[in-house]
Amino acid sequence: MIKLLFFVLIGGIVYWRLRHPRPAAGAAAVARPVEDMVRCAHCGLHLPRGEALGSGAIWFCGEAHQRAHRY
Ligand SMILES: [Zn+2]
Repeated sequence: MIKLLFFVLIGGIVYWRLRHPRPAAGAAAVARPVEDMVRCAHCGLHLPRGEALGSGAIWFCGEAHQRAHRY
């Protein structure tokens, strides 16, 4: 009887795992659109283009570095 319960339990776990597979490691990264990374021309920090200041080929991580590079 105990053995039967054990197998029912194992079967239940296997069934549950098949119904709810763990998301793959890369799934989270794929779900989010990958944004282009740009490099701060002043300090070399890499950051998403949406957070960077600048245009074209020259980007900065913040206003301070944009100013520091300009003057
Ligand atoms: Zn910078």
